[in-house]
Amino acid sequence: MRREYPDRHMPYWLELTHKQFIKACHETEVALMVVGALEAHGDHLPLGSDTILPNYLADIVANRTKALVLPPIPFGESWTFEEFEGTVCVTPAALLNYYSDVMEGVFKHGFRYIVALNGHGGNSSLLQLAARKSTTGGERAVIVVNWWIDLGKEIRQKLLESPEGHAAEDETSEMMCVRPDLVDTSSYKSSEVKTKYAVVSARYRGELFPSAVRGDPTKATREKGSRFMEEAARELLELIAQLEKGELPLTKG
Ligand SMILES: [Zn+2]
Repeated sequence: MRREYPDRHMPYWLELTHKQFIKACHETEVALMVVGALEAHGDHLPLGSDTILPNYLADIVANRTKALVLPPIPFGESWTFEEFEGTVCVTPAALLNYYSDVMEGVFKHGFRYIVALNGHGGNSSLLQLAARKSTTGGERAVIVVNWWIDLGKEIRQKLLESPEGHAAEDETSEMMCVRPDLVDTSSYKSSEVKTKYAVVSARYRGELFPSAVRGDPTKATREKGSRFMEEAARELLELIAQLEKGELPLTKG
């Protein structure tokens, strides 16, 4: 759902004409690349949750800044949830090439920074590899923001009553804020399978993530979700403002 602001700059890459794009490029050094997934999220959240949530933040960026927002990439690395109905998984090799091609294509237009706003854990390492590949040619940077980890950390620690997870209290609260119409609150199932080591096997995926859930969605509320999204948006806008000034988000001791 797109929220409209009176000062909207219209910086959706896919809505601009060639001529408007040239003008828009002169007004910003930052492009926002939204990266999601299409995968099972329990019986209560939609398959596109990992795209819907970062896209919500991207809409705020589009409305409040001049950064250009790319159309979201809706498929991700979802091997862990491949056996659940509705999941569509793209192989790591294909995604790595796809991400780096997109990044190189964006840099080619003169952008100095790409914020890769990622909504899905399986994509993180691939985005980093793609960023390495696409930044070998000069002064430019990809900032990978795993938004559900990197943004709103403190408020999460303060308000969450159960551990963060998959389709858990945190993500369910966020979806209740962003798209309450898509949350089936009558179908909650909690599950918490802990492993001391990384157990990797296609055979045991269902046992590691029963119902494609890790965590306790029953503790989710819309209020918590609103606070998380509000703070995430604030921090993301701050990052973009910093990049527009030509500063990398570094803390030096
Ligand atoms: Zn998710």
